[in-house]
Amino acid sequence: MRRIRVNRSNTMKIELEKIKKDQEVELSEVIPAESWDLDSFDVRFVNSICIDCTFTRVSNEILVDARVKTSRHITCSRCLRDTTCEVKQRFQLNYGINNLGDFLEVDRDVREEILLNFPMKVLCRDDCKGICPGCKVNLNIEECKCKKNSVNKREFETNKHE
Ligand SMILES: [Zn+2]
Ligand SMILES: [Zn+2]
Repeated sequence: MRRIRVNRSNTMKIELEKIKKDQEVELSEVIPAESWDLDSFDVRFVNSICIDCTFTRVSNEILVDARVKTSRHITCSRCLRDTTCEVKQRFQLNYGINNLGDFLEVDRDVREEILLNFPMKVLCRDDCKGICPGCKVNLNIEECKCKKNSVNKREFETNKHE
């Protein structure tokens, strides 16, 4: 399959004529995060939104394979730490050719996908260990300080039974 690469277009807009059969067309776009207005109360999009799309024509449809990378400034709901994390997404979009004009513009749909894939729980990382309810340390950074005490307690209880 022939592959055409177009870099740094201003918008994810492509002339349908350019997407021919047996040919992939790639578009890359880097958008300042603030220009897409994605922020919610606990997530702020920072730096850039990087989008790579591969367009292919399959019979009467245009298929779009989209890879999106965003940077988000969040407050973790488990450990309460402020942090910036990178989120990568990949999704497919498809469009019936008959419903399109001369151009296909995917920016709005890409933006929607980013918002739809929003996590219910905002975490600094998937396996965030959170804060120990006992000694209140951030378990991602420090070891729990209650461990030692509970071991001592167990030893004490064992001794009692002897
Ligand atoms: Zn966390
Ligand atoms: Zn603890």
